Amino acid sequence: MARRPASSKKTSAKGKPAKAKARAGSKPAKAAGRPAAAKSVAAKPAAAKSAAVKSGQWVYVFGGGKAQGRAGMKELLGGKGANLAEMANLGLPVPPGFTITTAVCTAYYANARKYPKDLEKQVDAGLSHIAKITGRKFGDPANPLLVSVRSGARASMPGMMDTVLNLGLNDETVEALAKQSGDRRFAYDSYRRFIQMYSNVVLDIEHHNFEDILEEHKSRANYTLDTDLTADDWIEVVKLYKSRVEEEQGTPFPQDPRDQLWGAIGAVFGSWMNARAITYRRLHSIPESWGTAVNVQAMVFGNMGDTSATGVAFTRNPSTGEKRLYGEFLINAQGEDVVAGIRTPQEITEAARKESGSDKPSMETAMPAAFKELTRIYGTLEKHYRDMQDMEFTVEQGKLWMLQTRNGKRTAKAALRIAVELANEKLITKDEAVARIEPASLDQLLHPTIDPKAERNVIATGLPASPGAASGEIVFSSDEAAELKAEGKKVILVRVETSPEDIHGMHAAEGILTTRGGMTSHAAVVARGMGKPCVSGAGSLRVDYNAQTLQAGNVVLKRGELVTIDGSTGQVLAGRVPMVEPELSGEFGTLMGWADKVRSLGVRANADTPADARVAVRFGAQGIGLCRTEHMFFDEARIQAVREMILSDTTDQRKKALAKILPMQRGDFVELFEIMQGMPVTIRLLDPPLHEFLPHTEEDIAEVAAAMGVDPKKLGHRAKELAEFNPMLGFRGCRIAIAYPEVAEMQARAIFEAAVEAGKRTGKPVVPEVMVPLIATKAELDIVKARIDAMAAEVQKESGSKLNYQVGTMIELPRAALMADEIAQSAEFFSFGTNDLTQTTFGISRDDAASFLGIYTQRGILPGDPFVSIDQEGVGALVRIGVERGRKVRGKLKVGICGEHGGDPASVAFCHEVGLDYVSCSPFRVPIARLAAAQAALGKKAAGEA
Ligand code: PEP
Ligand code: MG
Repeated sequence: MARRPASSKKTSAKGKPAKAKARAGSKPAKAAGRPAAAKSVAAKPAAAKSAAVKSGQWVYVFGGGKAQGRAGMKELLGGKGANLAEMANLGLPVPPGFTITTAVCTAYYANARKYPKDLEKQVDAGLSHIAKITGRKFGDPANPLLVSVRSGARASMPGMMDTVLNLGLNDETVEALAKQSGDRRFAYDSYRRFIQMYSNVVLDIEHHNFEDILEEHKSRANYTLDTDLTADDWIEVVKLYKSRVEEEQGTPFPQDPRDQLWGAIGAVFGSWMNARAITYRRLHSIPESWGTAVNVQAMVFGNMGDTSATGVAFTRNPSTGEKRLYGEFLINAQGEDVVAGIRTPQEITEAARKESGSDKPSMETAMPAAFKELTRIYGTLEKHYRDMQDMEFTVEQGKLWMLQTRNGKRTAKAALRIAVELANEKLITKDEAVARIEPASLDQLLHPTIDPKAERNVIATGLPASPGAASGEIVFSSDEAAELKAEGKKVILVRVETSPEDIHGMHAAEGILTTRGGMTSHAAVVARGMGKPCVSGAGSLRVDYNAQTLQAGNVVLKRGELVTIDGSTGQVLAGRVPMVEPELSGEFGTLMGWADKVRSLGVRANADTPADARVAVRFGAQGIGLCRTEHMFFDEARIQAVREMILSDTTDQRKKALAKILPMQRGDFVELFEIMQGMPVTIRLLDPPLHEFLPHTEEDIAEVAAAMGVDPKKLGHRAKELAEFNPMLGFRGCRIAIAYPEVAEMQARAIFEAAVEAGKRTGKPVVPEVMVPLIATKAELDIVKARIDAMAAEVQKESGSKLNYQVGTMIELPRAALMADEIAQSAEFFSFGTNDLTQTTFGISRDDAASFLGIYTQRGILPGDPFVSIDQEGVGALVRIGVERGRKVRGKLKVGICGEHGGDPASVAFCHEVGLDYVSCSPFRVPIARLAAAQAALGKKAAGEA
């Protein structure tokens, strides 16, 4: 496992003796494997960092009731550093320490991995600061200061980068620790932990070296648990560990605490560029230029016996949002033990313990004083940050220390509840509540859950780590998950536990199932962040990677077999289970109501069928912005009639086919209008890319020929004639209505007759908007519009009812955007078809883009897929021109967008900015668009800090 960049691995220690008395000035560079410090900082840090670079302050201290930093300095101090400073300023119990800024990381990489020249002096001052507060000195053999060294980027990247604890321990200081704590066993246990962690993180010696030694020692002594080991055992294990390090790297384990410190600092900066951190950044759009900070902090020990503990807690439940302290802790444990999920953690509150049925005491009963202090602090932190906090703490011999706080990651469901409740508690405003919800995250709420009526073949129950349910084929490795996903398969990633190396697999999977680990284990935290269902810690399951099986009692499931997980209940079910659409919570409605009050942009849905329209209304659509009439004909029975129409040689034949279609169309429209209850409905005339409708097999041709009463051979010939090289730019859009006006006439008749009928049925007048697709010239629109108007007059006469309607057009070709002023003379509304507009502006075929677009985005030629999020500069310029020129001629011209971009939050913000009247998107994205439109109105920046 090459977890670190080769440069830092090979040169950090391997093959080079650690000189205990090495000249101080050479240490930073040596530890990072590079020659002496850079003369000057040639790096060009991001604008906001430049002030710090100019001032030359690389180190910010905190502790003792005050700090040089504060929460607002995340960019420079990273999230952890900024919040440690803030907690210190609040007077909370934070072990003293200092933060080496992200500007150092940026400079380090910009200068061939050399540090700024006066960094070392500032780090020394930082150590003196800690020494002053703690009364301990770094490297002092009698009263040593031990520190932790942790990464801390501006955005949280859980588990992606390195951490070293107990740093400063060596053969001398361990004795001092033993003496001071009065616990030799604890001292040597801490030392062996340090050797293992440091050797792995800094010297790149794999964990198994140490795990093997420990296991061998235990079996020799007939021990089963680590807790069985005595002080003498740990002393022996330390000896063995040190020899193994020397064997592996050719030099002894570094004894000089300063060498250790610079080695760890170099490793943390090095970990910014490790493969998993790079992948994580790519998945979360975190720029490389942000860099990480390094936090050096006095150690506090959670493993000093039964009055010590370590834990993590959320001020509210991160899965449901419920307002109740929620978390886990471990007695007599250190550092990351809770997150690692190696031991089963205990509940914090007594209420939670009762609910879980655990027989282990809660923190509330086991450590009442520390619990009371934690409760006080969490209240302070929530009020101060005005948001749910995710905290890490350690209890050292009864005293509580805060090691971290940050705004906690949460599911969309929890985010909604927390935002609404915080607003109701008056901690934040309603507008802030609206601004806090990531629009795209609402997708999570719309995920299916298991049908309560479905039969459940539950084979195991684990922890409900991340809500929602998913079914898929079992895979046991992340690489395989990614491969099968690329083949279009749905998979469930099944692991004993996940690690940061698994993120690509977790990303590819529909859901994640682990047999080990708690609610705050890696799998649980990451899956929640990704919005994927996850069941963790399903301990009754046996995973056998070699045999590729998952065993639950007598049931053995093999790789490739189907499994379902329910991340809301923790159940694991064999096979695929029917799902149901989610019920939306009261908070959802409340927040959406607040969002609707602030937004000015309308939100409609693209809906082609009554079912779509019903979903759209349920999600709050204010109309239909696009009904693609060709989609009404994908049905087996109907496609036949469309084929007849397309393949007709003569107008007569075509009219016959159209006569079959007319009642179907009219029926659909009546239903759509009825569902929409007088809201606007835009119906687009037929725009079939012909290849989607032509019969391909002989059987299909024979069937159509029989229905039309023509020779199949002749018909086959005609189908061949109609085949196009480039159907997307071929005989489609208004070109059909121009060549065959009877098609447009039939559709117009169906629309108007349906409007009359639906108006009568609902008592609400229907004002249909008839939309002409793919026009490039005003002349095209005029020709088609004339037919529509004539048909409207005819239907009015026949029905004796007055018709109110509008005729408008799609703007989806660059020429149409450029000629919008002329076109607006005839068009009563515009709707930007940004799918085709993107296709034609870029000259990238919508159907063929997949084969090369990935390369473009990977290489940064394009920031993302322009069919997903609108290219604001290029395609966006045409939209701006279209709006401006159109409205110059027709002042109140109604303008919307109906391309896929209408449901993409960044594109919605763009639409707001250019002054569109509405966006129209697929029904399930309507809530996302409503929220994005509200945030655009609130002026929320698209890219914010995490
Ligand atoms: C468009 O081009 O953006 C559009 C909505 O039409 P279609 O996707 O049907 O071509
Ligand atoms: Mg189009």
